[in-house]
Amino acid sequence: MKASQFFISTLKEAPADAEVVSHKLMMRAGMIKKLGAGVYNYMPIGLRVIRKVEAIVREEMNRAGAIEVTMPVVQPAELWQETGRFEKMGPELLRIKDRHDRDFVIQPTSEEVVTDIARQELRSYKQLPKNFYQIQTKFRDERRPRFGLMRGREFIMKDAYSFDRDQAAAKASYQVMAQAYRRIFDRFGLTYRAVAADSGAIGGDLSEEFQVIAATGEDAIVYCPSSDYAANIEKAEALAPAGPRPAPAQALTKTPTPGKSTCADVAELLGLPLAQTVKSLVLATDTLNEHGEVAKSQVWLLLLRGDHDMNEVKVGKLPGMEGGFRFATVAEIEDHFGCKPGYLGPLNLQKPVKVVADREVAVLADWVCGANEVDFHLTGVNWGRDLPEPELVADLRNVVAGDASPDGQGVLAIERGIEVGHVFYLGTKYSKAMNATFLGEDGKPAHFEMGCYGIGVTRLPAAAIEQNHDERGIIWPDAIAPFTVVICPIGMDRSAEVKAAAEKLHDELAALGVDVLLDDRGERPGAMFADWELIGVPHRVVLSDRGLKEGQVEYQHRRDTAASKLALADVLSFLK
Ligand code: ATP
Ligand code: MG
Ligand code: MG
Ligand code: MG
Repeated sequence: MKASQFFISTLKEAPADAEVVSHKLMMRAGMIKKLGAGVYNYMPIGLRVIRKVEAIVREEMNRAGAIEVTMPVVQPAELWQETGRFEKMGPELLRIKDRHDRDFVIQPTSEEVVTDIARQELRSYKQLPKNFYQIQTKFRDERRPRFGLMRGREFIMKDAYSFDRDQAAAKASYQVMAQAYRRIFDRFGLTYRAVAADSGAIGGDLSEEFQVIAATGEDAIVYCPSSDYAANIEKAEALAPAGPRPAPAQALTKTPTPGKSTCADVAELLGLPLAQTVKSLVLATDTLNEHGEVAKSQVWLLLLRGDHDMNEVKVGKLPGMEGGFRFATVAEIEDHFGCKPGYLGPLNLQKPVKVVADREVAVLADWVCGANEVDFHLTGVNWGRDLPEPELVADLRNVVAGDASPDGQGVLAIERGIEVGHVFYLGTKYSKAMNATFLGEDGKPAHFEMGCYGIGVTRLPAAAIEQNHDERGIIWPDAIAPFTVVICPIGMDRSAEVKAAAEKLHDELAALGVDVLLDDRGERPGAMFADWELIGVPHRVVLSDRGLKEGQVEYQHRRDTAASKLALADVLSFLK
């Protein structure tokens, strides 16, 4: 490939709405272009990366015995009504009507359609097991699309669905997929962890998420450094033993203040500046997963300084709160946050709780809190400092770093991850809802035992960048780099030797199957190098008149701090 025949469009500055490094670098490297909220053009450089991700996923899915199909992006609502998800799924499901006023959905996943295929095509146990997969566009009307491709509304997912004759066979199919996922994520060259996840109403422990470790990840994962134990925070919390937890350094005390329990009252009573008091608002929200089950129950604790202007609270501010502090109704929360609220009400801090912020933050202890309970005030409230904007939100967690691991093998550590894959045993949830049966060996109809398996194809490059970058730009692992090698000739327009050598090297590498790009744009070296460092091509070969006279080129890996000399004659064997 020659740069002059390709499309390269880099930016000096990232747009202001790009918060995390992967979003910034993808924009600057010209990988993606924003079209609307959570909707992006995949530009040529970005598309090359996506295609490489797809190729690896496809190869490993095929190797694991899955069979590729493509299901429509626009799907008739009838199937979705059969499982009830048309109503249940909430605003993440994009519903549309055609010209005949018929309902359709844009697929967020495809359990209904694939189950419909199975109930028509798989008639006998002899045809089982089968695993159908697709690599296809998805749409989820995410409440907060952000971080570029990381949480888009339109994105590409690989989704696979297994069909088995009984539970034991389904569990075996699940394990085959979990193994294939390990191969896939190993090949991407990323640091990841497979963590136990909640399998919702179905129960059992056959649900794992594949989390790429990154400080900017939206998920918290809990693991034991001295054993194999790893789970996402929701699962870890679900398993955590109930009972009293050790009190935080500053024990919480609750003191009666009859008739005077607002922040202002308490500040006055204790002779404190208002800014040293906190008011809190607790919202409990249930987030439903794509199967309409509760995937995440979170308690949002908003701690606000007593003198805090409610108008500045971005996450917690509900319409109508402008006038001051108040509790919201269930319907309002549902409307505003797009998820089902569980418990709403004044915070009842009767036992000491440790407030663990959503990110690593320093916690200031011993604040005074008024407004939670009428006729009382509290001291010893912990207050997360430096919470990342716009989230003035802390999770109330009962699993924290240093807790004993449930397997008794050590203590727990917590780190952040990006969910790039998810394997999930479904049982007969969909086959029963859609009456999808096959004839068993005993001649009787039986419901398919199913599993579903997703990989975020367009999220993966974003996760890879979060893990692999420096101040100059992206550092791609070879497996998913837009180009593996870039040839940078210096003075190609002036020197016939450089031009000939560069083209020859390009052709020879290409003939060996190396994904090589020759930068024949005629850019000055500084600008040319900066572009490729930003774009993150792992291997760079620089050709110049001076070097060629000595039969040498300069080679630099994107991680190297300096170039090294390499004999031109050795380049092919070195790079192939
Ligand atoms: P998340 O918890 O991040 O919202 P999810 O659990 O809803 O993801 P799944 O339904 O498990 O996602 O889908 C399978 C995979 O699709 C996820 O593991 C993730 O990699 C990817 N994915 C999900 N939502 C998005 C999105 N909005 N943008 C990009 N990729 C996504
Ligand atoms: Mg989701
Ligand atoms: Mg998830
Ligand atoms: Mg998931």
